[in-house]
Amino acid sequence: MPFGLLKKRRFRHRLVRAILASLLCILLGLISTIWQAASNLKLTTHIRMMNARQLVENTLDSANHAASVVKEHLGNPCLEPVELQLRMQVAYSQDVRSVNLVRGNKIYCSSLYGNHEENIHVDGYTNGMLYLMSDTLIRKGQPLIIYRMVVGNDSIVVRLYGDHILSELNVMSINLPLGLAVGNQQWQAHAVPPFSPDMPGYLELASARYPFRIVAAIAPADYAHYFWVFSRFSLIAWLLLATIIGCAVFRWSGRLITAEHELREALELQEFIPYFQPVVCGETTHWTGCEVLMRWSHPTLGILPPDSFIPLAENCNLIMPMTQALMIQVRKQFVPLAHLLPKDFHFAFNISARHFKDFNLVEDCRVFIQAFSSNPIRLVLELTERELLVADDTTERLVAELHKLGVLIAIDDFGTGNSSLKYLQNFNVDALKIDKSFVSNIGIDAHSVHIIDNIIDLASRLNLQTVAEGVENEAQATYLKEHNVTFLQGYLYGKPIPMEDFARQFYS
Ligand code: C2E
Ligand code: CA
Ligand code: CA
Repeated sequence: MPFGLLKKRRFRHRLVRAILASLLCILLGLISTIWQAASNLKLTTHIRMMNARQLVENTLDSANHAASVVKEHLGNPCLEPVELQLRMQVAYSQDVRSVNLVRGNKIYCSSLYGNHEENIHVDGYTNGMLYLMSDTLIRKGQPLIIYRMVVGNDSIVVRLYGDHILSELNVMSINLPLGLAVGNQQWQAHAVPPFSPDMPGYLELASARYPFRIVAAIAPADYAHYFWVFSRFSLIAWLLLATIIGCAVFRWSGRLITAEHELREALELQEFIPYFQPVVCGETTHWTGCEVLMRWSHPTLGILPPDSFIPLAENCNLIMPMTQALMIQVRKQFVPLAHLLPKDFHFAFNISARHFKDFNLVEDCRVFIQAFSSNPIRLVLELTERELLVADDTTERLVAELHKLGVLIAIDDFGTGNSSLKYLQNFNVDALKIDKSFVSNIGIDAHSVHIIDNIIDLASRLNLQTVAEGVENEAQATYLKEHNVTFLQGYLYGKPIPMEDFARQFYS
C-alpha cells in the first residue's frame, strides 16, 4: 500500500489541520469569553449606576422633605419657633446638616446659627436646585450637597452631608469608579480624574427627578482587567478544549479519510492514467485489441500498480469516476488515430462489481462507441470479481442496455472466484478470461491444465470467446493455441505500457 508513505507525506498537512482547528477553537473561546466578560462588566456597571442614582435620589428626597416642611415659615422673621422647626429637620434626618431660609441671595435664618446672614451664589446652582461644594466653615473640606427649593422670590437651602454618598460610591466602585455629576461639577469615587464625554467608554445615567447624573467610563484597560480577574479560568478551559480538539483532528485526519482524500485529490489532478497491454489473436498472433490497465502516476512515488489503490477506490466509491476518467483519456487519444487501428480492434476496460449497478456506465460506453463511429471499434467490459456482484433486475437491465450498444462482456479471472459459474448462469456474457494463475501452470501442474481444458470446453459449449492472460512463453502459447483459445495476452506479446507508447506503435 502506498498509503503508509502517504500518511507520512501528509503528516505536515495533518499537523497544520490540527493547529488550525485548535486556533479556531481558541479564537472562538476568546471571542465568547471576551464578549461574556464585556457584557458582564457593562451590566454590573449599569446596575451599580442605578443603585448609585437611587442612593443620591433618596438623600435628596430627605432634603426635599425637610424643605417642604419648613416652607410655611419662609418669609417669617427668624424667631425661636422658626429656628426650632429648622433644627428639628436636621434632627430628623441623618443626611441633613443644615436647613436655611433664604431671601433673594441671602440666608437670613439658619438651623446652625439662627438669625444669620450669608450670601449664596444662586447662579452656580444647576437648574437653580443643586450645587456641590466643600465645607469652608465647620469641617473644612467636608463634601456637601446643597439642595435648594425655590418658592417665589425666596428659597429654602438644605445642606446635606456628602461623605455618606461618597463612601457609598467608593464601595460601589469596585473595579470601576463611579462619579456624581451635577452640571459641570463632579465627585468621583477613589479620587480618579473627572469623567468627560470624550473619554473612551463614557457612560452616564441621569436622574429624572433631580438635575444630577451618575457617570463612569469603561476604558479598554478596564475590560482587560475585568477579563483577567473574572474570566481567566474559562480561558484555560478553552485552551484545554482546543488541545483536545487539535489532537482529535490530528488523529481523525490520519485515518482512512486521508487515504480517501489522497485518492480524490489524485483524481482531480488526473494522476490515474491508462497503461495498455496488447491482446493478440490466438490463430495469427496479430494484435486484435488491448486491455486498459489503470496506474497511479504518483508525484513522489512514481507509477503505482492498481492492487495498491483499487480496493480502496472501490470501498469509497471512487472507482466509477476513476474508470470514467480512464475511458475519456483513451477516447481522446485514440479517436484521432482510429483509422490506423486494425479492423474490429477492441478496447477492454476492467469494471468493478459495484460499477455494474450504475447506469452512467451505459452512457459512458455510448459516448465511447459513438466517438469512434467513423472507424468503429469494439468495447469490452471485463467484470472483475473482487467484490461479489449480486444479480438483480438492475444488473439485468444494465447488461441488456450494454448489449444493445454492442458492448461485449467478459468474466475476468474466470475460475478463481467462487461465483464464476453463478455469473455465467445469471449474466448474458460474451467471453471468459482465463486467469494467469492457471496459464502459468501449463506444463507444471496437471490440475491447472484440467481447469483450463474445462473452461475452454465450457466456453465452446456456451458459444463464448476465450481470452488467456499471463502468457509468458511459447509452450503456454502453443498449448492454448492448440486448444483454440480465441485471444492471448501476456508478456510474450507485450507488457503493459503507457498510452502514448502504445499509440505510437500504430503510427510507425
Ligand atoms: P487483471 O484484470 O487480471 O489484469 C491482468 C494483470 O496481469 C495485470 O496486472 C497485468 O499487468 C498482469 N499481466 C499481464 N500479462 C502478464 C504476464 O504475462 N505475466 C504476469 N506475471 N502478469 C501479467 P495489473 O496491471 O497489475 O492489474 C492488476 C489488477 O488490477 C487487474 O487484474 C485488475 O483486476 C485490476 N485493474 C487494473 N486496472 C483496473 C481498472 O481500470 N479498473 C478496475 N476495476 N480494476 C483494474
Ligand atoms: Ca482484466
Ligand atoms: Ca487476472
